Amino acid sequence: MTTLDKQRRKKLQALVDKDYYYRSYFDDDIEVQSTGKCGHGVFAVRQFLPGELVMEVTGQLIPKKAYVGSEYVMDLDEDWYLEPSTPGAFMNHSCSPNCELVQLTEFSLGVVAICNIEPETQLTFDYAWEAFDWNPKCQCGARNCRGWVVAEDQVKKMKQMAKDQKKKSR
Ligand SMILES: [Zn+2]
Repeated sequence: MTTLDKQRRKKLQALVDKDYYYRSYFDDDIEVQSTGKCGHGVFAVRQFLPGELVMEVTGQLIPKKAYVGSEYVMDLDEDWYLEPSTPGAFMNHSCSPNCELVQLTEFSLGVVAICNIEPETQLTFDYAWEAFDWNPKCQCGARNCRGWVVAEDQVKKMKQMAKDQKKKSR
């Protein structure tokens, strides 16, 4: 998985700040469009450089203790989930993502570019879900697609669950 560690992200952000000045996230830098096959997605309007903040994701905070299972929640911190409002809610998963999430403030997540992103590119991050008892089949189309929208270390478990389910439904 291509993820930026903290130090590298900091370095890249410093480079971006120095060479391109700081371009803070601006609403018009991204837009929600139809993806054709996967409902709606969030697309870049301008170029983003590695380490750059692409957008802020805000929404409803849900205590993890009270979680009843929406498929859209994101991990905010140890105790809280963030149920993103738009446009964050429209961000799709990819097994080969171009963004990753960082905690930006106490109440929000930041979407950070982990590679060069050209305008008109769909913005994606790795949902890295745990294996579920329903089949979140992945349609990201990446060469290294895991087949399901689950974390890399959950693929084996997901495969087994899918097999068991098939047996049951027979
Ligand atoms: Zn995939």
